[in-house]
Amino acid sequence: MDYAYAADLEKLALLKELATPAALIKAFYLKKAVSMLVKEVSDRSALVERGSKLGWMLIKCADTLCLKYLPEMYVDGYVGFNAYSFGFDEKPYVVLGERLLKVLTEEEMTALIAHELGHIGCGHMLYHTLAEFIVQGVGWSASTIGIPLLETPLRLALLSWRRESEVSADRASLLVAGSVEAVKSLLLKLTTLNKEVSCGDGVLGSLSEVVSSHPLVARRIALLEEYYKSVGYAKARSKISKRNLVRRAFVPICRFCGAKKPPSSLFCSSCGRSCV
Ligand SMILES: [Zn+2]
Ligand SMILES: [Zn+2]
Repeated sequence: MDYAYAADLEKLALLKELATPAALIKAFYLKKAVSMLVKEVSDRSALVERGSKLGWMLIKCADTLCLKYLPEMYVDGYVGFNAYSFGFDEKPYVVLGERLLKVLTEEEMTALIAHELGHIGCGHMLYHTLAEFIVQGVGWSASTIGIPLLETPLRLALLSWRRESEVSADRASLLVAGSVEAVKSLLLKLTTLNKEVSCGDGVLGSLSEVVSSHPLVARRIALLEEYYKSVGYAKARSKISKRNLVRRAFVPICRFCGAKKPPSSLFCSSCGRSCV
């Protein structure tokens, strides 16, 4: 992903070298834990329908970030003012705390969804999920999936990478939201809300992310501001705009005169203008 933070990429590469091959981790440690968690989440929370307002926000974010797989998204009453993503790159899940729906503005909610999708887009799912299980002390999943058997260097590498991976996800959030202010107000709001309540319990409580045990919010905001002014950001934004422009051209209606046109043609047969 062109918005990925350099330290995220470096540490992830190191992790891949250091770790048991990814396929092995997936097969032995995570598959079972993930399917148990999916069951737990889907049993008790509401699946976001594609046609709903949140569903449209999800699709818009996924589209802007060029996600390969659209995640299943749930609204869960048990995770307080928080959200997280888990699963595998090709089968990701996003969970939003139900209480967030009442306190976040639409802009902040978009930034939050985009943050989670940023993790998915950057290929974080496998190691991110593993790190989350480790951070929460493993609990019920320990004996079943054998995560405690992971060697210390791997654990440390995972946790160190995880902090940097947040920076990439924040960048995704910024790319979709288009303003540092929206992401900043989301991060500050979540920090305040989570200070006020100790939310969640068990696996899901500790899996809750975005602010808990993440790099200091002040550092993240500073890095966002830096990225916002960078060439990398301008390039990524312009790529998104170009793609949207091209996509808009291949629709059955001319955007200038509203006449019907063959979707395969760039030119409108009625007004003759190029729709790019
Ligand atoms: Zn995150
Ligand atoms: Zn036309």
